[in-house]
This record gives sequence, structure tokens and C-alpha cells, in this order.
Amino acid sequence: MRITIIGSGYVGLVSGACFADFGHVVTCVDKAEHKIEALRAGRMPIYEPGLAEIVASNVQAGRLSFSTDLAGPVSEADVVFIAVGTPSRRGDGHADLSHVFDVARDISRHVRGFTVVATKSTVPVGTGDEVDYIIRMVNPNADVAVVSNPEFLREGAAIEDFKRPDRIVVGHADPRAVEVMTEVYRPLYLNAAPILFTSRRTSELVKYAANAFLALKITFINEIADLCENVGANVQEVSRGIGLDKRIGPKFLNAGPGYGGSCFPKDTLALVKTAQDSNAPLRLVEATVAVNDQRKRAMARKVVAACGGRVRGRTIAVLGLTFKPNTDDMREAPAISIIQGLIDAGARVTAYDPQGMEQARPLLDPHVAYAEDAYVCAHGADALVIVTEWDQFRALDLDRLAAGMTGNVLVDLRNIYRSEEIEKRGLRYTCLGDGLAT
Ligand code: NAD
Repeated sequence: MRITIIGSGYVGLVSGACFADFGHVVTCVDKAEHKIEALRAGRMPIYEPGLAEIVASNVQAGRLSFSTDLAGPVSEADVVFIAVGTPSRRGDGHADLSHVFDVARDISRHVRGFTVVATKSTVPVGTGDEVDYIIRMVNPNADVAVVSNPEFLREGAAIEDFKRPDRIVVGHADPRAVEVMTEVYRPLYLNAAPILFTSRRTSELVKYAANAFLALKITFINEIADLCENVGANVQEVSRGIGLDKRIGPKFLNAGPGYGGSCFPKDTLALVKTAQDSNAPLRLVEATVAVNDQRKRAMARKVVAACGGRVRGRTIAVLGLTFKPNTDDMREAPAISIIQGLIDAGARVTAYDPQGMEQARPLLDPHVAYAEDAYVCAHGADALVIVTEWDQFRALDLDRLAAGMTGNVLVDLRNIYRSEEIEKRGLRYTCLGDGLAT
């Protein structure tokens, strides 16, 4: 199959590289020239474990190429995937579909012969109908089948997720698309990944419902963590106790500083808006959005409380900036609100992240200082806060860390340490949801 992917970000580039690895011939297109130049020079514009290797091997095999111009690649393609961003629209929280619609217009001018146009971007219910309409308006002769094919990969584990998905969802309104999409995913189908063919609108909603459910699960355990602190219970044991129930399952039950990232915040908000507009408000999701928004700033107050109620003039070291480990993505990362909250309370902040510092700089207060590793970051700090659970923070040399600090407060917003191991180094440990410790 010849595949063209428009938008070569976290989703487009990973999808393109993996499709090429399946044996398809793929062109990844992006309007950002610096990204395409970097890719052509063998440099990855994003950090994703394993991506550089799979891109390099498929470029070398002649199955993967990059372009800023979609005309040629679209005219040759059997399938064109749309994988551009769909951020929250400024002002009202609806998904901003301008990139998707721009691409639909561009595609329609260049398609030749029967072509499947598959939307991989996360888009609200009904967007496929609109994409279909745009293409037919611009080019009434275009022979296209517009399908919805939402992506479920997680940054940080994207290649594994793409190659071994729990399921593939394809929403369509043209039986010819079923044959083409089956061929596209045949290598996964052989590996027994279930492929669900459904209507376009159902498929679009599957993606939002899945993300909203996961966001709700995280938010639920975060509120249970707060309750644990007030009633003398331990949230990790509650999580284990409920997660062993197969109907609930153990995943997404780790208390933390609130969900962030490029998907959950914008997708929950967009779903809330769709539901309100459709006269079927999703009150659980509305509550999830509100609770999560407040939680990030509340984490700054938790740090201040752990420091005795005042942080003016104190130095606070923050370990981990990205919204989760193994990515450089800073979009909606809890660290942004937490650090702002600490600076607003008068603290000086020093930060370290293994991959995210470049992306963090434009988003964080200009007074934040950046350190070259965790120990330099902690040196001279009155308090240390773990915000993102990178592996390298799970096995810190605690004696070295404690020896370099001026103060003795360690706040672990990911519950990756046990209080005994911290406290025997003379540090005071605060985590989430451990009412037994207070
Ligand atoms: P991204 O911002 O990393 O990448 C989007 C790319 O599209 C950018 O490189 C941008 O330059 C390019 N682009 C925008 N308009 C273009 C145009 N007209 N022509 C060519 N290129 C254009 O975004 P992402 O994280 O890859 O997300 C893409 C979509 O996938 C979003 O809808 C998102 O919700 C969804 N999604 C993301 C993830 C994730 O983990 N990041 C997971 C599942 C689904």
C-alpha cells in the first residue's frame, strides 16, 4: 500500500514509521519545514524511545520519506491519513479543527483515483461528515472514502502501542474502505489485534469516551487519595484492594498531581462541549475536568504546607517537568501550574528534567533555573519535589541528595518512595494519600 500521512508529530511520525515497518511505502508530510529538514537529516524532532532506529531503518530500506509538499504524495496514495493537531480552541474549549479542514481542502485538490482519507487526529463526532463535505465541495470528481481511525498510542510507549494495540477502530460509510483498511492493518490483524469496523460517528466517539473514562479513573483515585489523608487510610493499598477486582483493573489507579498531556485535558473538555451542545450533558466528565484543573494548583499548596506554610525566599528543587516519563512533551504538564504556584508564593525554583527542559523553557516563568542533573538541582535546596516519575528518579542516591540539600523536605507527588527509606536519611517525607503517616 502507498500511504501518505499529513502531520508528522507524535502521532503522524510514529504511525508513518510503523506502517513503513509493516512493509508499506510511506511519505510523512508536515508544513513545519524545520521538522522535515531534521527528519531528512536523520534527526528526530521529538523524543520517543525507539523512534530514531525505526525511522532510520525504514528510510534506508526506501519505504519511508518526508516532504513539506503534499501534492505528489497525496496523488500517489491509496490511503491519506490526517494526523494534524486538534488543540482546544481559544475561548470556548471546543476542538480547533482548522488544521483538519485545511488539510481536507488541500487533499481534495490532489487525490487521483479511489483514495481512502482516514482521520487519525482526535476529532469530535460529525467531523468526518464535514471532511467528506469539504472534499466533495472543492473537488466534486474526487473518488474518496472518508473514514475515522482514531489513534490510541501513549507517548513514551508509542511504538509498542502502535504495533501491539488493544484494538483498532475504523468508522466508515463506504464498504470499499473496509478492504483498504484491512490491508493497511493486515500485519496487526495477523497478530490478533481486534479490528472493530463501525460507523464513522461511533468511531469518533469511541476515542473521546475512552479518554474521558481514563481521565475519570485517574481523577477518582486522586480524590480518594485526598480522602485517605483525612481519614487515616493509604491510597496505594486502596488502589491495590480495588484494582484486584477484575471489573475495575489495576491500571490508571496511581494517585498523582492531576492528569496533563496533549490529550486528556483537551479531549475531556471537547467532549463536555459536544455533550452540552447535543443536549446530553456528561456531568461526570464535567466534574472530572473541574477537579483536575484545581488539583494541579493544589499540589503547589501541598508543597508549601510541607515546608511549614511559607516558602518565601526558599529554594525548591523540582524533579520532572514533562507530563509523564519518556517523553519531551510539556503540553498541559502539571509541573507548569505547580511551579507557577510556588513562584507566586515567593519561592525560587530550580528544575531538572531528562528530556523536557527545552520545551519547558517557553512555558515556565523566566525566573526558573535549570540544572544539569537531579543532584545539581537538589544542591542547596530547602525542599525537593518529585513531579514526574522518570526511572532515574526512582533510584536516586538518597544520601548524596540529602547531603547536598540545605533543607530536609521531600515531597513525592508520584508515590515512588517509601517513607522509611527517606526518613532514615534525615529527610521529612510527604507523599499523596498516606493518612497513616500523619
Ligand atoms: P503534534 O502537534 O505533535 O503534531 C501535529 C503536526 O501537524 C505538527 O507537526 C504540525 O506542524 C502539523 N500540521 C498542522 N497543520 C498542518 C498542515 N496543514 N499540513 C501539514 N502539517 C500540518 O500533535 P500530535 O500529538 O501528533 O497529535 C495529533 C492528533 O492525534 C491530535 O488530534 C491528537 O489529539 C491525536 N492523538 C495524540 C496522541 C498523543 O499521544 N500525542 C495520541 C492519540 C491521539
